[in-house]
Amino acid sequence: PAKPIYAGELPPGLQRISNIVAVSSCKGGVGKSTVAVNLAYTLADMGARVGIFDADVYGPSLPTMVSPENRLLEMNPETRSILPTEYLGVKLVSFGFAGQGRAIMRGPMVSGVISQLLTTAEWGELDYLVIDMPPGTGDIQLTLCQVVPLTAAVIVTTPQKLAFIDVAKGVRMFSKLKVPCVAVVENMCHFDADGKRYYPFGRGSGSQVVQQFGIPHLFDLPIRPTLSASGDSGIPEAVADPQGEVAKTFQDLGVCV
Ligand code: ADP
Repeated sequence: PAKPIYAGELPPGLQRISNIVAVSSCKGGVGKSTVAVNLAYTLADMGARVGIFDADVYGPSLPTMVSPENRLLEMNPETRSILPTEYLGVKLVSFGFAGQGRAIMRGPMVSGVISQLLTTAEWGELDYLVIDMPPGTGDIQLTLCQVVPLTAAVIVTTPQKLAFIDVAKGVRMFSKLKVPCVAVVENMCHFDADGKRYYPFGRGSGSQVVQQFGIPHLFDLPIRPTLSASGDSGIPEAVADPQGEVAKTFQDLGVCV
């Protein structure tokens, strides 16, 4: 495992961040980026100074989910540090803003590149940095958790029984690193149609996780066409509809982190 660089020598760009929150999932496509982005913008709406680090090298989502005017990261020529781009006051760093094609790299190289991008960015003074973790609990994720001092982790999953095993892996990784898992978000838990509620992936595995691992909070996020459409449009739903049901869920989650 990588030596934690924050043991006494946190990089200058990260020194003025109060809370670093990892949003993690064990599989791709469960809605991790959707949660990370909506959580970040809800925290900003609640008055916090917020940044988002999209740590996915292979499939960065941030450039699709938000639409900053400046879509390229710049470098401070004097300090050689990276200047985040910004959308609605939230600072953003993603490989998708690095101006290169999709990376072809092996695991150890990926870990190095992610750590470098995260630690050389000039985040300035932030109340929250939300890290959209790459999916899984392998070396890349472990390294990332070790180069910055995480204050909390949020695990995103779907309600299938199978997902339970994956969540357990995530919880174990964070507990080994002594990072508190403050919440599980069970995404795509149900949808409403013709006046009825449907549970396409079953019910109950979220509450099982929460009980078994003593995680204090469980949030349900329904399947909503507007969530998917807002993800594609570059304006997060929590921003587009700040009084809506989704924004309320994220306000509750925001209080937990
Ligand atoms: P991940 O980061 O886990 O790969 P994403 O957040 O990118 O997942 O979500 C995958 C796709 O599913 C995106 O197109 C997103 O807009 C959509 N999506 C996620 N959650 C929901 C939801 N609750 N309802 C509708 N669409 C969703």
